[in-house]
Amino acid sequence: MPWDAVVVGAGPAGSATALRLARAGAAVLLLDRARFPRHKPCSEYLSPETVRLLGALDAAALAEVLARAPARLYGMRVVAPDGTEALGRFAGDPRWPAPLPYGLALPRADLDMILRHAAERAGATVREGVVVEDLLYESGAVGGVVTRATADGQREVVKGRVVVGADGLRSVVARRLGGRRTGWPRRVAFTAHVAGVADVGELGEMHVGRRGYVGLGPVGGGVTTIALVVPARAARPGPGTSWRDRFLPALERFPRLAGRFARAELVRDVIAVGPLAQWSRRPVADGACLVGDAADFFDPFTGQGIFAALPGLAVRPPHARPPTPRCT
Ligand SMILES: Cc1cc2nc3c(=O)[nH]c(=O)nc-3n(C[C@H](O)[C@H](O)[C@H](O)COP(=O)(O)OP(=O)(O)OC[C@H]3O[C@@H](n4cnc5c(N)ncnc54)[C@H](O)[C@@H]3O)c2cc1C
Repeated sequence: MPWDAVVVGAGPAGSATALRLARAGAAVLLLDRARFPRHKPCSEYLSPETVRLLGALDAAALAEVLARAPARLYGMRVVAPDGTEALGRFAGDPRWPAPLPYGLALPRADLDMILRHAAERAGATVREGVVVEDLLYESGAVGGVVTRATADGQREVVKGRVVVGADGLRSVVARRLGGRRTGWPRRVAFTAHVAGVADVGELGEMHVGRRGYVGLGPVGGGVTTIALVVPARAARPGPGTSWRDRFLPALERFPRLAGRFARAELVRDVIAVGPLAQWSRRPVADGACLVGDAADFFDPFTGQGIFAALPGLAVRPPHARPPTPRCT
């Protein structure tokens, strides 16, 4: 029996899509190559509107997020290359009342674990440690995926009436559907968790340089998440060094960051992702569609990737029989 939907990737887009489909009565298989909890390179910030979407998706998931004592962010501080600053605080909009007057920040390892569990609670079957390598075609339409288990290398054909590619920036599903594009600027991001950063407050920070930028903000527990985004050509650490050595010194060249890392130490390895700026010209095909970063790309500067990922795939209201998920 094929699944109604095979969702590839259990990040925010995949878990939200699996949750909605399962709630609507569909038989959903949610696959991820990672074993959770897993880290994801991200600044780990949820805007007030993202928090509203999360609560609307699953109130229990939002309650779990709040129970982890996430950091509260009341606005953003943007610093130009010459050190000039602009400060903005979140203001309520009566048309879109946010449940909280601030944004939240917590490690993606925690957020994604909560969302993955919410999908499972809603009825989706979740399999971790399963890499999707290829699409299965039947009569010209996508009819499933070919998987490989990371534990023993075992390959399997899994059939589904719809395959949802939620496998992120380097989506295999998107590449197999064709029409994948890489655009300008070609950048790579490095992210780290750092303890002991001076003067971290209640605002997120964006520091713009001439060759890249830095996003910085607390994620709770005295830890700051820092993302350094640089041109792809500057991403190689150089002979005999690593980004673990270079990460904190590289931040010092931003005028309002200089001197703030004297007592700082990395508490998680530096994780890289890129090149950024990839998107799909074919987000929908017969029997398949893409959601989240697999479909389109939000520059990390916007801090809106999770906001864009959470709506996932819209599902029609439930009918007498389980609905056929449609990619339209
Ligand atoms: C440096 C940086 C900072 C950012 N900061 C923010 C921020 O502060 N706030 C914000 O809202 N957004 C931010 N974003 C964007 C945000 O991280 C993404 O938009 C969001 O994670 C997209 O969610 P997703 O579910 O589409 O993909 P992902 O979160 O990438 O999840 C994809 C999942 O698919 C799995 N997968 C991949 N390939 C396969 C495969 N072949 N088989 C099986 N599973 C697979 C992966 O293991 C992963 O779990 C940032 C991005 C970057 C690069």
